[in-house]
Amino acid sequence: MSNRITTLFNIQYPVIQAGMIWCSGWRLASAVSNAGGLGIIGAGSMYPEVLRTHVRKCKNATSKPFAVNVPLLYPNVEEIMNIIVEEGVKIVFSSAGNPASWTGFLKEKGITVVHVIANTKFALKAEACGVDAVVAEGFEAGGHNGREETTTLCLIPMIKDQLKIPVIAAGGIGSGRAMLAALALGADGVQIGSAFAVAEESSAHPDFKNRIINAVEGDTKLRMKKLVPVRLLKNTFEETIAQAEAEGANAETLKQLLGRARAKLGMFEGNLEEGELEIGQVSAMLKEIKPAAAILNGIWQEFLIAQQRISSLEF
Ligand code: NDP
Ligand code: NDP
Repeated sequence: MSNRITTLFNIQYPVIQAGMIWCSGWRLASAVSNAGGLGIIGAGSMYPEVLRTHVRKCKNATSKPFAVNVPLLYPNVEEIMNIIVEEGVKIVFSSAGNPASWTGFLKEKGITVVHVIANTKFALKAEACGVDAVVAEGFEAGGHNGREETTTLCLIPMIKDQLKIPVIAAGGIGSGRAMLAALALGADGVQIGSAFAVAEESSAHPDFKNRIINAVEGDTKLRMKKLVPVRLLKNTFEETIAQAEAEGANAETLKQLLGRARAKLGMFEGNLEEGELEIGQVSAMLKEIKPAAAILNGIWQEFLIAQQRISSLEF
């Protein structure tokens, strides 16, 4: 398959593995890239020198293109950007911040830049800043989420109609059928998080992976809208937040309840009750821990079957 996204990144399938804190280190990113997708190292949970190590290990583990995701509200963003340039990273996915701040710097260095957005206003802003593509992430997605609660089904056509640059759909995509639907809505590619969070190569704690594959419909909630909206799995921490929100908690109270390093506690250290377990709605469909290549291949095969089925329909 060849389209604007496979050409932009020089990859085989228009499938991008989302940058996920505590899940997507060099092992997952290189495995996805080696399988023909685009792997992303999630820098959000890495101190600068840890990122450098992961980039170097990724380069040793794959000769294929890979990217780094940088949440722009990250504390040491300047140091991270300099490491990206020094280590010769060719593709950056920026998120959680203003694309005006770093896109020009990265583009000057010849780096391909993609920005993650959750509404049309920011998509237009990202395009005006000169990014090469956007990831449009809908309500179903895990982790940080948009305030508008726009679902992927509504978000993709709205953005597609207003942008010239390629659009990568994200949120709720963990199967070949969902991928076909995203392309039917006008997306040029898909970004998949949750399905790769449970890959063997994901650095998430094994207990978190097992919790994900046992998740059922309704197990994820969007919480902390007054602070930063986050989709997470129900547990003791989530119940505490839900109760505080029901009592009208403001941003400051939520920040105190969140404390520090909650995501690390849950996702990396495996504290399933007190930690923050960020994952998407599609977790209810995930049933197995498999190698990343098998996940990608399964999605691609299902995509081809679904495409065949749709094209054979008679009207
Ligand atoms: P592992 O802990 O599995 O270590 C594998 C090898 O990486 C080690 O034998 C060591 O090699 C080297 N290593 C480990 N930690 C560091 C470090 N901080 N700096 C430089 N080299 C290191 O880890 P990974 O290789 O999977 O990851 C490396 C680091 O990244 C770890 O500190 C881990 O906590 C962190 N990490 C962070 C993730 C995130 O999302 N923030 C995801 C995955 C890992 P040697 O013996 O040659 O020194
Ligand atoms: P907290 O402020 O609660 O804690 C910081 C965590 O990040 C700690 O676990 C710390 O590891 C680790 N960390 C890595 N690098 C640094 C650094 N330079 N300075 C301080 N801490 C660092 O943050 P969260 O866990 O909620 O989020 C971590 C990062 O991920 C943030 O930058 C956040 O914006 C980003 N994020 C981005 C998302 C997205 O873009 N979609 C989604 C969720 C989070 P340690 O415990 O080892 O000190």
